[in-house]
Amino acid sequence: MPSTHEVFNQPPALTGYDVADDPAMLNALRREGAGWAEDAVHELGRLAGSARVQEQGRQANENPPKLRTHDRFGNRVDEVEFHPAWHELMTVAVRHGLHAAPWRDTRPGAHVARAAGFYVWGAADAGHCCPVSMTYAIVPALRHAASLAERFEPLLAARDYDFGLRPPETKRGLLAGMSMTEKQGGSDVRANTTRAVPAGEGSYLLSGHKWFTSAPMGDLFMVLAQAPGGLSCFLLPRVRPDGTRNGMRLQRLKDKLGNRSNASAEVEYDEALAWLVGEEGRGVRTIIEMVNMTRLDCVLGTATGMRTGVTIAAHHAAHRTVFGRKLADQPLMASVLADLAIESEATTMAAFRLAGATDRAVRGDEQEAAFRRLALAATKYWVCKRAPAHAAEALECLGGNGYVEESGLPRLYREAPLASIWEGSGNVAALDALRALTRQPESAEAFFAELDQAAGADSRLDQAVVRLRKELSDPSEARARHLAEAMALALQGALLVRYGDSAVADAFAGSRLADDSGSGGFLRWGRAFGTLPSGADTAAIVERATPGIRAG
Ligand SMILES: Cc1cc2nc3c(=O)[nH]c(=O)nc-3n(C[C@H](O)[C@H](O)[C@H](O)COP(=O)(O)OP(=O)(O)OC[C@H]3O[C@@H](n4cnc5c(N)ncnc54)[C@H](O)[C@@H]3O)c2cc1C
Repeated sequence: MPSTHEVFNQPPALTGYDVADDPAMLNALRREGAGWAEDAVHELGRLAGSARVQEQGRQANENPPKLRTHDRFGNRVDEVEFHPAWHELMTVAVRHGLHAAPWRDTRPGAHVARAAGFYVWGAADAGHCCPVSMTYAIVPALRHAASLAERFEPLLAARDYDFGLRPPETKRGLLAGMSMTEKQGGSDVRANTTRAVPAGEGSYLLSGHKWFTSAPMGDLFMVLAQAPGGLSCFLLPRVRPDGTRNGMRLQRLKDKLGNRSNASAEVEYDEALAWLVGEEGRGVRTIIEMVNMTRLDCVLGTATGMRTGVTIAAHHAAHRTVFGRKLADQPLMASVLADLAIESEATTMAAFRLAGATDRAVRGDEQEAAFRRLALAATKYWVCKRAPAHAAEALECLGGNGYVEESGLPRLYREAPLASIWEGSGNVAALDALRALTRQPESAEAFFAELDQAAGADSRLDQAVVRLRKELSDPSEARARHLAEAMALALQGALLVRYGDSAVADAFAGSRLADDSGSGGFLRWGRAFGTLPSGADTAAIVERATPGIRAG
């Protein structure tokens, strides 16, 4: 065998680091009332950054789930088979309470602690975060049926991952999903045709189809169906309490762009037993409570993706030499990396502000609930829209290696558009922000009260808020994206100038908030990443995104 040549000028593998070594996240964790969880978050962060877990993430994605519709005798099975790596990832997520555990934790900040765990652990693999997120999200909707919540909430919150087809009440822990989208309409769920026929004592039999139902190997599903009183919300078990299989047939799994470790199914319901949650005819109002929780996870998951991308890019640039200098020291690459880092920190800060608002809102703080209503819709719209461009740019920092699967960046890139589609696609999220703004004055008030707290700290932010207020005088539907973007940017700016790193806050305001009208037609901040105005302290900003790895 001829010996291969020496390998040089390649970075060391980015393993054995603490994903939670993330100053913007740690400061937000303390500020939002969950400093007590720091040790646990670091423990998860070290796990997520370990070679073993990184390998599990790769294996779970390269060996996607398989649907088994029938056994060899022709009996329906309707089960999904996963690679063992998936089960390992799920076990850790559930053991660390990233699913419904905070609902049974009375400590103030419990939802923020869970958000931090979800954020750092998501770096291991995004796909398995889907069932984890839906299990978290189902609880507030389920509480609209007190007796069902009493039966199932303790099992949804239990820290045992117990995979398999058995009656829910015989399992040590449960996972949940949601089943809304049909072929003829996902955003417009009122077009649902699945029928629910009363079967006595609060039970119904559901017949119809669902075009998307992710994590179909779960135990309980929140399903929308047309009852005699209108579109209603139901809790549907995959196995009936008597041990017989419910009428839930998995037709096929979607062949998805990304999110490949996770299963997303097409389902047929055939007189499937389900229980009413909330009142008949109020299905959307009930399930929206679940949707709003998963929307928070869309923001958190996007923050994770951005942080992962910029971390890998900064690590590469810290070790790769081009034209006689480290890539990170080349002024133009420093500008690209800093721009990516600014986007990432701003997203992380907004995500944790929303997690804090969630924590306080579930404890009865109405002002925080009103703030969250508008801020979450606008932020979900904007940060999810930024994700694909961010991932593409992070990928390019590695040159050709970034385009190769082994770098991990193609997986990140394929995942990036999903959060914008799911739980209110871009337009729907922007229109929702507009609806909150125009129809819920207490929400607009709470949002602007938040911005007011940053008044006077940075003149560029002050002017951006003045412009925003002016723009809101025309809240027409066609402008919804523009307005949601402006609101999200103002919120990110307000958080950064109050609490952020000064170099990051200054560069954010100079790029994302500054008024271009007096700049003679030359944009202060261009349309691609890496166009920061001169004067930004790029070295200090990039330093915050560059991971420390243990020698050897
Ligand atoms: C990987 C994945 C997993 C999913 N998992 C689930 C799941 O577990 N359960 C579930 O129920 N669904 C799930 N979905 C479905 C998802 O929620 C829907 O695809 C989404 O809500 C959009 O619905 P739709 O596909 O019918 O598109 P449509 O509703 O037809 O929307 C098409 C486009 O029109 C836009 N649009 C809609 N209304 C308006 C309007 N009024 N004005 C302007 N533009 C508008 C949308 O923003 C979108 O860009 C999943 C989807 C994906 C990709």
